[in-house]
Amino acid sequence: MTNPDVGRIDGLTYPHGVAYMAGRFLPMSEARISVLDWGLLHSDVTYDTVHVWNGRFFRLDLHIQRFRRSLARLRLTVALDDEALGNILVECVRRSGLRNAYVEMLCTRGVSPTFSRDPREAINQFVAFAVPYGSVANARQLEEGLHVHLIDTVRRIPPESIDPQIKNYHWLDLVTAQFQGFDAGAETVVIADMDGHVAEGPGFNIFVVKAGALYTPERGVLHGITRQTVFDIARQEGIAVHAGAVSEAMLRGADEIFITSTAGGIMPVTRLNNGIVGPGVPGEITQRLLGIYWKWHDAPAYTLAVNYDKDAFA
Ligand SMILES: *Cc1c(COP(=O)(O)O)cnc(C)c1O
Repeated sequence: MTNPDVGRIDGLTYPHGVAYMAGRFLPMSEARISVLDWGLLHSDVTYDTVHVWNGRFFRLDLHIQRFRRSLARLRLTVALDDEALGNILVECVRRSGLRNAYVEMLCTRGVSPTFSRDPREAINQFVAFAVPYGSVANARQLEEGLHVHLIDTVRRIPPESIDPQIKNYHWLDLVTAQFQGFDAGAETVVIADMDGHVAEGPGFNIFVVKAGALYTPERGVLHGITRQTVFDIARQEGIAVHAGAVSEAMLRGADEIFITSTAGGIMPVTRLNNGIVGPGVPGEITQRLLGIYWKWHDAPAYTLAVNYDKDAFA
């Protein structure tokens, strides 16, 4: 039996999806970059990820704005205006037929024709793709809450070294911590910063709920758009939010914990290292925020509907 969600090329399997690169759309399995690309050799690349839910992009404008800021800080050039960039993303989704999609836009430093060591000589390369929606947490973890370990033997790359507001693939701190966490029985991890404060996890931000208020790290973490959406929901609901240093003690004393990412939304955490968080089931505030988060996915103010019948460039 063949799985329509998987493509195969050269004996490797790829998820179903559509990519755009070098001016054309192609099946995900055919989208490749050169091994000489600075994106691979030096992790000299930035990206952003947005999602489509029930055929609608969620807060696409904010993702494109963040991508633009990341590009500018790295002096990368994408010769497309916002409308053309948006149309490419829509067209990747439309051609893929996916109603729930994970959509990535990225730009690598590219290849320098002479293999020069001067980054100014590389030709920047823009790539976009749409693949099936993926989540940090699986269905059982969303239902019961995740088991997270706080890791402090690996520290988050300090913001003085790499600006975390530039969404990046410098993940060796996060991946090293993930392996340590898996060895200790965790489902995922959050890592501490150089001061020992709680930072973030592989592709997600973290929130503590204490006495009805929200606490989340501010410095040295990517300011996620899901994190921003939690701020927006909290304002509507009259829930106080404190963005600032979060200590390990605050994490251990939390009434509720949840993590946030484009890949999964708002996800409850019910176990921390060898302890239980609050009552050990997804908390009331977490559930309330989560319900509103998904409800906003139908709201015209936050979404853009994909027209699957019409070429985005027609
Ligand atoms: C993408 C990412 C997040 C989450 O950001 P969203 O915009 O909510 O998806 C958090 N931390 C890191 C390191 C990330 O790369």
